[in-house]
Amino acid sequence: TKTLRLILGDQLNSKHSWFEQVDPDVIYLMAEMRQETDYVKHHIQKVVAFFLSMRNFADGLKRQGHQVTYFKIGNPDNPHELGSLIQQTIEKTKAGKFEYLLPDEFRLDKQLKSIAENLSIPSESCDTEHFFTSRKELQVFFKGKKQLIMESFYRMMRKKHHILMNGEQPEGGKWNYDLSNRKKWKGKPPVPGEKQFGHDVKKLLAEIEKAEVQTFGEIKADQFRWPCDREESLSLLVYFCDNLLYYFGDYQDAMHTDEKFLFHSRLSFAMNSKMLSPNEVIDAVTNRYYEDPDTLDISQVEGFVRQILGWREYMRGIYWKEMPAYAKKNALNNHNPLPEFFWTGNTRMNCVKASIGQSLEEAYAHHIQRLMVIGNLALLLQIDPNWVDAWYLGVYIDAIEWVEMPNTRGMSQFADGGIVATKPYISSANYINKMGNYCSGCHYDHKQKTGEKACPFNALYWNFLEEKQSYFRNNRRMSMMLNLLDKKSPEELAALKARAQQILQDPDLF
Ligand code: FAD
Ligand code: SF4
Repeated sequence: TKTLRLILGDQLNSKHSWFEQVDPDVIYLMAEMRQETDYVKHHIQKVVAFFLSMRNFADGLKRQGHQVTYFKIGNPDNPHELGSLIQQTIEKTKAGKFEYLLPDEFRLDKQLKSIAENLSIPSESCDTEHFFTSRKELQVFFKGKKQLIMESFYRMMRKKHHILMNGEQPEGGKWNYDLSNRKKWKGKPPVPGEKQFGHDVKKLLAEIEKAEVQTFGEIKADQFRWPCDREESLSLLVYFCDNLLYYFGDYQDAMHTDEKFLFHSRLSFAMNSKMLSPNEVIDAVTNRYYEDPDTLDISQVEGFVRQILGWREYMRGIYWKEMPAYAKKNALNNHNPLPEFFWTGNTRMNCVKASIGQSLEEAYAHHIQRLMVIGNLALLLQIDPNWVDAWYLGVYIDAIEWVEMPNTRGMSQFADGGIVATKPYISSANYINKMGNYCSGCHYDHKQKTGEKACPFNALYWNFLEEKQSYFRNNRRMSMMLNLLDKKSPEELAALKARAQQILQDPDLF
């Protein structure tokens, strides 16, 4: 009998055991579906990157001799819905068995389970062979614990997978070099330009437009720059190790108007689409360290490994532990609408203009821009986390719900009430000025708290603390911030609150 195997758009793992042998009785099914383009409004680069990578992946399978049924977005036979797609292809191919790879998204997991249950032929699900952890591993690790501390999960992962370990001890003697990874970038060392791949995507763009998929953001149709196949993904990894890794840790938290990418790897799309595995990325980086320990400092390498072995797997575990309730969490009861400037970058706040502007131009912002500029402002503006989630899920090239949501709703918006973060990631202008050069070119004065020229972050910050104080009174990590709030005179507080109310009324005027 024939077997039909489904491959979703973010399951492009060419090293999967499914593909080890060419079997004439196996048919692979892939489709560009409206179901996937329409669940949120996406950045055009995200849609292009996924479709192009899927097409390249299907072509690769065909070249190896596998049978692939592929539905392009404009194909008149494309049903654009997963259930009909599978049913129709089973009938057409007379398949006697259906197999699928476990999806990483709750929505698709539920949908596929239900589709499989209702089929008249047997079905089976298989692991994607991508992550270090299974869906439930984090839940088992933290069983009975009140706090799900990332650092303890990360140390367990280091030991379990023998990564940067010296016997039982961490390489270099320390588990975590976070404190040395906080430099401001002041024009030196020079940042090597980002590696670009220069695809011509005019034809694909026309197909997407013709299908009337709603998108936003900018794209350069003749030189689309993201890696869209396995070779390109591997070459981006090599480029990172050769050129960027040496300063990665130092400038991990830095921000600069002239450098959108600094020393960040831009590997998230290649990894989230599974063209690269986290294991091979970590291997490449740690091998480089062992080959070149005199020039490559452990702090750069550890800083990078922690993001992937720690944060990435941790977020996956949180997602599977907490879904589906997580998607509705709004612990701080925030209900304000998303300002228009999230879609235009049109604001006088220089840090926000740069970070959102870059997100719309590149479908990319690095972690500190996402967390301490855009996310920080969204939280201080008390925007409904549903809006914030939808924006983050749409705008970034790497945004897939399993990793987007715990980062946005959890880490950045504290809507989960402190599952991911022990305190909210909020700051006044002080932090933004410390980590970058945005403030020096800004319409606003980062030192002023009230008055026309005062940086909006300042008044919003104190207003947020004042409004949410009862929620945070029992949080020991918030006591320093709240002590400072308590020391404000009634007059000063009233002035801060008046300024904040002005901004909250219509953030688009600022
Ligand atoms: P680098 O700085 O080079 O880091 C290397 C890799 O580490 C990344 O490619 C990524 O795989 C991993 N990583 C780093 N931080 C995290 C993290 N917090 N969680 C998970 N993995 C991490 N990442 C996504 O992949 N998809 C998202 O939708 C996403 N949404 C985010 C939303 C918010 C509000 C915040 C604060 C962070 C979000 N992140 C998300 C995490 C992080 O910002 C991106 O992974 C990173 O910026 C991608 O760029 P890079 O590949 O150049 O990363
Ligand atoms: Fe951002 Fe305020 Fe600095 Fe302007 S002054 S760049 S708004 S933090």
